[in-house]
Amino acid sequence: MSLDWIKPADRIQQLPPYVFARLDELKAKAREQGIDLIDLGMGNPDGATPQPVVEAAMKALQDPSNHGYPPFEGTANFRRAITTWYKRRYGVMLDPDSEALPLLGSKEGLSHLAIAYINPGDVVLVPSPAYPAHFRGPVIAGGQVHSLILKEENDWLIDLTTIPDEVARKAKILYFNYPSNPTAATAPREFFEEIVAFARKYEILLVHDLCYAELAFDGYQPTSLLEIPGAKDIGVEFHTLSKTYNMAGWRVGFVVGNRHVIQGLRTLKTNLDYGIFAALQTAAETALQLPDIYLHEVQQRYRTRRDFLIEGFGKLGWDIPKTKATMYLWMKCPVGMGSTDFALNLLQQTGVVVTPGNAFGVAGEGYVRISLIADCDRLGEALRRIEKAGIRYQPEVVGAGSELGV
Ligand SMILES: *Cc1c(COP(=O)(O)O)cnc(C)c1O
Repeated sequence: MSLDWIKPADRIQQLPPYVFARLDELKAKAREQGIDLIDLGMGNPDGATPQPVVEAAMKALQDPSNHGYPPFEGTANFRRAITTWYKRRYGVMLDPDSEALPLLGSKEGLSHLAIAYINPGDVVLVPSPAYPAHFRGPVIAGGQVHSLILKEENDWLIDLTTIPDEVARKAKILYFNYPSNPTAATAPREFFEEIVAFARKYEILLVHDLCYAELAFDGYQPTSLLEIPGAKDIGVEFHTLSKTYNMAGWRVGFVVGNRHVIQGLRTLKTNLDYGIFAALQTAAETALQLPDIYLHEVQQRYRTRRDFLIEGFGKLGWDIPKTKATMYLWMKCPVGMGSTDFALNLLQQTGVVVTPGNAFGVAGEGYVRISLIADCDRLGEALRRIEKAGIRYQPEVVGAGSELGV
């Protein structure tokens, strides 16, 4: 029997097409053909969770008091570990009962926040390009997304002066994310001060995604929104253990900041889920208490890969700026070639998988994102294959196709 009569809700049908879907199909096809894929597409860390965290989880798993439903708002110990970490890391005091909420990964919270706060038609300001949950959450909630176009010549920073006054007046939420996925851009502290002043002036809820809080290099320290005086009145900040501690599969994140907003999100979540398995919350406490030496190892790992790839692509004509943070390189497509075509070409000719920039919004067109999630041996192999296929960046050559050696 055909299922034509049962259609997904409009909110699902309105979602912009998922660029990853076609890529996934082609990946599967390439694998069937026996092509050895070097997958640098997803932002999925390739390292193991630190041993002390795994051991804490195994121990907690043996404790039957962890086997029931966890408290809705997360365990008191994990919430205290969050605010203690926050104080140590940023010097900001937060109340563990009302200003911190554990999440089943930050993606869940970022999307659910939109459902908890956006009415159909509400204006939401979202950069383009952006991490997909920043615009897909608001779209699912029926919000009207106003894209803030980011540009390379502006170092991928939001230019607040380009937001029309009437749009700013109507806007209810602004999502942003520095260090940025996908552009790997960072924002100076002054930018945070400006955006807080902007949000206070127009009464906009600021939602900052600081999921790369610790993946920073060469002495750079990312700024937290809540370090800025007055930010807590109008903002919340999302964090995750996925990237810093190689815990993407564990699904542990948290939100900190304005207590009313956190209460709203908690109310929604109370109706949707039961929170994180208590044994994993115990393990997450251990992660937040790990000595800094562990962070240095993770940072070193990504920095080495960053330098290796920037140098390798440099020999192929690409001039990629040295990123100060994140686990990505944001790389221009050859002149005259779109993101999707370039990513598909790379896949078909070399088996190297990257993410087309337009997956992150229209302003990502013309770029691809490369995740630093393979060791230098594999990255070297990727570079060799790209070179062998004759793929280079030649800005002076006008016209598509020829420079790809096809
Ligand atoms: C990876 C990533 C997330 C998702 O993190 P989870 O906590 O694993 O859901 C959120 N935001 C950005 C910008 C990311 O890159």
